[in-house]
Amino acid sequence: MLCLFVMLIFTDTFSQEVFQVGEVKTVPGEKKSGYIIVPAGFDSGEVKVPVTVVNGTKDGPVLALVAGVHGYEYPPVLAMTKLSMELDPANIAGKVIIVHVANVPSFLKRTVYYNPYDWQNFNRVFPGKVDGSNSERIACQITTEVIDKCDYLIDNHCGDGNEDLMRYLYYTETGNPELDIKTKALAINFNLKVIVHETGRTKDIEKSMYVSNTALLRGKPAISTEVGKLGQTDESDVLEVMRGNYNIMKHLGMIDGEPDIRFESVWVEEYQIIRSEHPEGLYYPLVSRGDHVQKGQLVGYLTDYFGNRLQDVISPYDGIVLYIIATPPMSEGEPMVMIGRF
Ligand SMILES: [Zn+2]
Repeated sequence: MLCLFVMLIFTDTFSQEVFQVGEVKTVPGEKKSGYIIVPAGFDSGEVKVPVTVVNGTKDGPVLALVAGVHGYEYPPVLAMTKLSMELDPANIAGKVIIVHVANVPSFLKRTVYYNPYDWQNFNRVFPGKVDGSNSERIACQITTEVIDKCDYLIDNHCGDGNEDLMRYLYYTETGNPELDIKTKALAINFNLKVIVHETGRTKDIEKSMYVSNTALLRGKPAISTEVGKLGQTDESDVLEVMRGNYNIMKHLGMIDGEPDIRFESVWVEEYQIIRSEHPEGLYYPLVSRGDHVQKGQLVGYLTDYFGNRLQDVISPYDGIVLYIIATPPMSEGEPMVMIGRF
């Protein structure tokens, strides 16, 4: 009886130390990779989301680093692989969950914006549904296995395969002062030159839509970052993603050193995304990422397949081009340009 009691205590102590994400179980001092299994559903078979967990030897927060929410955004995916190889649990306080590619079907089928099984934008379906479509089922697992288990989250994006995008990040203000201070500190310490101050995200926890908003509505500081463009894999973008994520780990005291701060960021307080109003067409951009544009300036236009002009894209104010679509295909409701002003 005593023996059983002692065993129960030991089992309990051991189980408290095990940190599990999907199939990956670690104890302090371990780094392991594996998968979060997303069960098959009505529209597809099983999906395996690759993750690495670095379980530090010292106490500290749980930081989730997510990439590949959009499957054609490569520098963050490449940076996550490098980070997972470099991070050593012996030098870490707390735990790092790395989601290498969240939207695996989009990554493998090379689709921009949409998941190829249900044609949903994966960053609009959170918190997901356990018995929903492919995107919703993956989102549900990311919510329960990653977002619910972390204390802080960085959602690493870049310009999608069709987006000529300058580096910037989104700071989402929630109205909860304590949370907003911590989130703002993440935004400043990730340290890109431009921060978009976002105030319009939904507060509905059942329809949180975005990965970072799902974390924020659960009280966890989170930002979305944008580094890279047009389906490219520039080394400078990969290194910039790594600098940002290392900065966050330093800021949170998870690794030694001070954040490498290179910019006093400028804040974009307002922005507009101008969308196509026509079922289909060819898009012609007239400016590039980072260009300063003036109110009333023609920044792009849409034609039909025969060259007839369908829609002019006019800048709504003096501002900066955060991204512009740089490839011809254009469907109704899709973004054509995002312009911000300071
Ligand atoms: Zn994205």
